[in-house]
Amino acid sequence: MMGRAALSEGAAALASVSDTPFLDASLLLARALGTSRERVLAMGPEALDEAGEAAFRGLIARRISGEPVAYILGAKEFRGLEFRVDARVLCPRPDTEPLVETALEAALSLSAAGRAPVRIHDAFTGSGAVAVALAAELGDGASVSMSDLSPDALVLARENAGMLLGRELPARLSDCLEGVEGPFDLVTANPPYVTSSFCDGIYAAGGREPRLALDGGADGLDLYRRLVPRTRGLLSPGGVLAVEIGDEQGAAVSALFAEAGFAELAVLRDLAGRDRVVRGRAP
Ligand code: GLN
Repeated sequence: MMGRAALSEGAAALASVSDTPFLDASLLLARALGTSRERVLAMGPEALDEAGEAAFRGLIARRISGEPVAYILGAKEFRGLEFRVDARVLCPRPDTEPLVETALEAALSLSAAGRAPVRIHDAFTGSGAVAVALAAELGDGASVSMSDLSPDALVLARENAGMLLGRELPARLSDCLEGVEGPFDLVTANPPYVTSSFCDGIYAAGGREPRLALDGGADGLDLYRRLVPRTRGLLSPGGVLAVEIGDEQGAAVSALFAEAGFAELAVLRDLAGRDRVVRGRAP
């Protein structure tokens, strides 16, 4: 089979399971051929050898069965860093970019106000994507720590920190900040926020990501109810809490912030214009 034809055939086969079939097919073909995605996209009419074709078909079949590309490749790019990712954690998503952007902005204004290095804690860290990206982008301007309820996730988060930063980040096993000691100037979190019934649908359709990372209870808000008041007690005066939210949760999560005494509340949007982050400041 010709390389180009393999790519369009693979993309067609993935159209019903993926929002990004061509991207997925090109990444999988690159892996099957042991080359880069750029090389695959520049491929001329040369034929795939039999082994390459068989490997590609195998990877396409795994994707069709519901396995995310990030799990198949064992890696996912986020904020320009190549994170190690597998079934122990949620795949880092572009959805989470606005959380990182919000946190960077908050960290820069805190350090301009004389709070350097900014003490940052990332709760529900999963693969460590948010914590490691912030540590990489802020360098000496921040001291970053992270926590997660899943020991398996924490192993991976530690690995990602070591691999991508060349140093360790303090990491603690914790149920929603329980036992975590502050004070922090900035707390970030992408807690599970999908409703349990929506999760049922995801898993009925072959979802592979850990339910622990997605299921936020009946209305998706269970973890915010615990996280927001608890964080308030861990923040220094003027400290900031920024959380990722589902696009219909802006009002409810803002109300929890207000109830816990946060001020300067803001709901921020993602690139698609959907509500994606709530931010507030401790008085
Ligand atoms: N944005 C994710 C999704 O919709 C949910 C992430 C989360 O629950 N924190 O799949």
